[in-house]
Amino acid sequence: MYLQTLHLHQFRNYLNQMVEFSAPKTILVGNNAQGKSNLLEAVELLSTLKSHRVTRDRDLVREGAEEGKIVATLERETGTVDLGLTLRRNGRRTVAKRGESLKRQIEFLGTLNAVQFSSLDLELVRGSPESRRRWLDTLVIQLEPFYAHILHQYNKILRQRNALLKLLAENAKPIAQNTELALWDAQLVSVGSRVTRRRARALQRLAPIAQTWHQAISSSMEVLEVKYAPNIGLEQDNSEWVQQAFFDKIQQRSVAEQYQGTTLVGPHRDEIEFFINQTPARQYGSQGQQRTLVLALKLAELKLIEEVVGEPPLLLLDDVLAELDLNRQNQLLDTIQERFQTLIATTHLSAFDRAWLNSSQILTVQAGQIS
Ligand code: ATP
Ligand code: MG
Repeated sequence: MYLQTLHLHQFRNYLNQMVEFSAPKTILVGNNAQGKSNLLEAVELLSTLKSHRVTRDRDLVREGAEEGKIVATLERETGTVDLGLTLRRNGRRTVAKRGESLKRQIEFLGTLNAVQFSSLDLELVRGSPESRRRWLDTLVIQLEPFYAHILHQYNKILRQRNALLKLLAENAKPIAQNTELALWDAQLVSVGSRVTRRRARALQRLAPIAQTWHQAISSSMEVLEVKYAPNIGLEQDNSEWVQQAFFDKIQQRSVAEQYQGTTLVGPHRDEIEFFINQTPARQYGSQGQQRTLVLALKLAELKLIEEVVGEPPLLLLDDVLAELDLNRQNQLLDTIQERFQTLIATTHLSAFDRAWLNSSQILTVQAGQIS
């Protein structure tokens, strides 16, 4: 797929900016705080309807404005698609595709696929389990947009079940058979096992690709394993088994849940583990090794999305080249070549060789203006 134009209106520090992408590789160069990441963030929003930097839309709308807008023209193999996202200070959003506004945000997902790689991703190995779950969920949504709906449902059920558990926690004595809680249990299990199985399926496909990349980049005998450690266990990948295991675990933790007033069982407690030569990467890895790992994951994401979606996704590189050594930079740049449309944000052009610069579109970003 190919992003032809991007129009930013009252978005972040952009007032009214039209960008045309005239080459598969675009380098956005500029000093700090000029709007490079903001532009990548706009593309990320069109892709996932989420920003990895903020959760509130009012941060995305330009200061002083009530609403901001991102409009894009995307070339897909099936034809040209116009996309529009309107963000409002009050959080209400409007999404439009091919000029028609859509009732459900989920119909918007899966149109523009993108893999983002920023210095924040380098925290994937050392960071919290939550950041790994968020990373995986973003990937699954790209592979299967309907997953966004499942995840949304799960979080809703979880919030409501937690509210009830909190009430129960205020009682002195746990209740063995609470009918209201039992209703929430059933929903948590039904939707939660769908989350678990989809996460498992995505990681199962990603893991071997990441392993191959990892070997190529580290040019050593190191073996990377990406493992899913679902909170409810996953010995058999069939729906009945997963649901039963989930139920059993809820029973086991029932007293603890009512005591602590929160849901202790379910995919919101999943972990994703990285091993290098069977040692957890978190303990094992030098910074360089952890970067290699994340780079391998990102390259694997590109390839997996391409396989599943049938078209190469966009790659958004936010200031990440400087964090990689020359060898890894080259691995990344070689892989991209002309295959994936790539937007690169950087503060200086020195990381790129002449051939790269000659074949790229170079845009200067200064105070929310692009030239
Ligand atoms: P760096 O090289 O430091 O990463 P950058 O070019 O990527 O810089 P961005 O994060 O894109 O910088 O832009 C940051 C700028 O955008 C800051 O000056 C910030 O004040 C401004 N900004 C962010 N949100 C808004 C908003 N809602 N309204 C107006 N300006 C905003
Ligand atoms: Mg930035």
